[in-house]
Amino acid sequence: MPAIAKNDFIQSIADAFQFISYYHPLDFVKAMSKAYDIEQGEAAKDAIAQILTNSRMCAEGHRPICQDTGIAVVFLKIGMEVKWDTDMSIEDMVNQGVRQAYTFADNKLRASVLVDPAGARKNSGDNTPAVIHYEVVPGNKIDVICAAKGGGSENKAKLGMLNPSDSIVDWVLQTVPTMGAGWCPPGLIGLGIGGTPEKAMLMAKRAIMDDIDMADLIKRGPSNRVEELRLELFDKVNALGIGAQGLGGLTTVVDIKILTAPTHAASLPVGLMPQCAANRHIHFVLDGTGAAEFERPPLSAWPDIGWKPDDLATRVNLDTLTKAETATWKPGQRLLLTGKMLTGRDAAHKKINDLLESGQPLPDGVDFTNRAIYYVGPVDPVMGEAVGPAGPTTSTRMDKFTDMMLGKTGLIAMIGKAERGQVGIEAIKKFGAVYLMATGGAAYLVSKAIRSQRLIAFEELGMEAIYEFDVVDFPVTVAVDSRGENVHETAPRIWRKKIGKLPELA
Ligand code: SF4
Repeated sequence: MPAIAKNDFIQSIADAFQFISYYHPLDFVKAMSKAYDIEQGEAAKDAIAQILTNSRMCAEGHRPICQDTGIAVVFLKIGMEVKWDTDMSIEDMVNQGVRQAYTFADNKLRASVLVDPAGARKNSGDNTPAVIHYEVVPGNKIDVICAAKGGGSENKAKLGMLNPSDSIVDWVLQTVPTMGAGWCPPGLIGLGIGGTPEKAMLMAKRAIMDDIDMADLIKRGPSNRVEELRLELFDKVNALGIGAQGLGGLTTVVDIKILTAPTHAASLPVGLMPQCAANRHIHFVLDGTGAAEFERPPLSAWPDIGWKPDDLATRVNLDTLTKAETATWKPGQRLLLTGKMLTGRDAAHKKINDLLESGQPLPDGVDFTNRAIYYVGPVDPVMGEAVGPAGPTTSTRMDKFTDMMLGKTGLIAMIGKAERGQVGIEAIKKFGAVYLMATGGAAYLVSKAIRSQRLIAFEELGMEAIYEFDVVDFPVTVAVDSRGENVHETAPRIWRKKIGKLPELA
């Protein structure tokens, strides 16, 4: 067997990460198309339409599915007889491939990896290092899985150390609602059952790399206990009514994947790993005959949904926004925003807080009076784009600053991803503000509503700086109204009752 050449290995890794940044796996496209067809919740159906339209646009334009282009996760199964033609370590070659992929000029991906995580948290600049999992197996090939995992879904991973007599189903049904919508459903849930705690988590992550075959499993029926469990959990997790983006609806997951391993008699570890709507992974094998080749899927594999701003949504002029107007909005109402909004996320909020606490004014041009802020950290633009893919980031991280922002800056509306926490909702209620939700996993589509951007302040924060976006028909859903009514609390409750397979919540 020929040796595996350094450049072939590096190029394969680089090509794989570029490929998955803009091509969803077709099994996911198919499963989401089915979810779109059957969805009855209006807001959830609109979110799935945005996700699928975004997916097709990314496939066509070779631009990232999501602004969070993920942390690079690589699973390697290395044959014991494999020979290498390289002067680099496997780890260094993987990282070189990741570096090449994330800095590729035509489709630069967002560098999200920070070194010194408990200290300076400094961005490595090229998304390295990757997280690499190795297995040594018989044979003379290398089996590679590359995955780009977004922070929003990774943050919702759970580990349960159950008693052997506990019900795995009950634990999953208790746990999934606690994950909110920050993991951007619809997606998949991977479970690793057995082993030790770290083995269970690794199996859960590895499980979501397997093909989506729930439709086949339903058709042919279960042939073992794991398949029975998958079917039961698929039915019951969807019966929770969480729905796309937590807006209430029929599809929260398109599959449940499970891997198991023998475990200690006293233990039942269960790892739970969510996979968001930006489901990005690819599998290839190297045998020394050259770099991997990735076949472009035909655009005809995508449904022709063509999401567009529609007249059922309420059109809003951001430039004349008042609290009197925002007070008329209802949870679940779809809006199309036109005009100017400011951006800012974690680091900008901290800076604003520090300035105000020390009695200093905000920088020139930073005026939030009667404005909306968008929690976003876009991908860099390429080839004449106003902005790169620019979907929302998780809003709960801004909760601790919300009282300050609403009380001290004149801000009246916030736009982000998923639910708000109790502290954020209390502040919204106190100041009669509103929280609007954009669709996570539809970043390229959302970015097309942004016609221009202008740097306002904190340039040193890079993608976290404050910009002013000029938008046209920017799609959002009212998630928390000015009275503090929260769609992420009410909608799943309503849909759980409508679906009627689980007991109603008290
Ligand atoms: S779809 Fe949501 S969770 Fe996934 S990478 Fe994008 S923002 Fe993060």
